[in-house]
Amino acid sequence: MQITEILAYQVGLPLFEGSYKWSGGNSVDVFDSTVVEIRTDAGITGFGEICPLGPAYLPAYAAGARAGLAELAPHLLGLDPTHLGIFNQAMDRAMRGHPYVKSALDMACWDILGKVTGQPVAVLMGGRFGDDFVLYRAISQDTPEAMAENVGVYRAQGYTKFQLKVGGNPDIDIQRIHRVAAELQTGDVLVADANTGWTQHGAIRVANGVRDVDVYLEQPCMRYEECLAVRQHTDRPMVLDEVMDDVAMVLRGYKDQAMDVINLKISKVGGLTKARQIRDLCVSLGIAMTIEDTWGGDIVTAAIAHLAHSTPPEMLFSATDFNSYVTVSIAEGAPQRQHGRLAASSEPGLGIQPRFNVLGAPVYRTKDRA
Ligand code: MG
Repeated sequence: MQITEILAYQVGLPLFEGSYKWSGGNSVDVFDSTVVEIRTDAGITGFGEICPLGPAYLPAYAAGARAGLAELAPHLLGLDPTHLGIFNQAMDRAMRGHPYVKSALDMACWDILGKVTGQPVAVLMGGRFGDDFVLYRAISQDTPEAMAENVGVYRAQGYTKFQLKVGGNPDIDIQRIHRVAAELQTGDVLVADANTGWTQHGAIRVANGVRDVDVYLEQPCMRYEECLAVRQHTDRPMVLDEVMDDVAMVLRGYKDQAMDVINLKISKVGGLTKARQIRDLCVSLGIAMTIEDTWGGDIVTAAIAHLAHSTPPEMLFSATDFNSYVTVSIAEGAPQRQHGRLAASSEPGLGIQPRFNVLGAPVYRTKDRA
């Protein structure tokens, strides 16, 4: 089987809540997502999606995903999309770095591999653990009172894990955490995600200010060394996210005992192939994971579901159903949240069919090979 053509579509994903706010005054109103289609000479087609969380979250941005795709895609024509190791090596040889550019391409190849073998991606990644898996709900940064109110709203939707967007003024963040914690019920889980927004001393102040609260701290500071210093000053459980971007960083964090949980985002590490490698390593090391992506719609949510559902539940801290945050559906067959939980499709591949009437005309396609 050979790749004959690669196309890309651009789609805007508005948020039900109007906007999503996190540290540093950052916010997004409409997510700019890119869907990738890989066509083959066997008539089998695969789909992937990449949606950065704006340009200020990771070194990634939406137009960059499309520019990178146009640079990389011509190098991939003629390759067999079911040979994922060879495919990934070809991407890394043709373009150094830029993992987010490669993510949707790799995702589309997994979709094709599943369709060729008649298996859901979750089965190819180890099998489905149980009927479904647990989700968390991100709570956009707001006043302590508004964030506390949202806990009740989201609990009514079935969520029991809540991730507060903090990383602002440490005094207000301490109030946010206390105010929200007062709303929690037995069995709820609270995470305060600073998204690199605190200075080292500010983070230590917050950690001290919430030492009586059952709360996880996530990615307090920009640099790994700062996060490690905070870790060494607090006994709150620690999640590392933005700095955990490849296997070597996970091993470094493990050796330093820098975290209890990592946040594994598919596009941050370059696609499902590399995410699965890190997932399996973390399972072996005993590091729990939140499995998700930077953002996305139905196709990213489907990919998250396959990776999360094939992860042992005791190592899966939580996952995300991004398609429930946005007003536009870009594919049929995507998993839908039920009682705060999600399940991977049992259909071959990712189990989704794009809505081309929503995606519109392609914004990029490879030229015919000579
Ligand atoms: Mg995070």
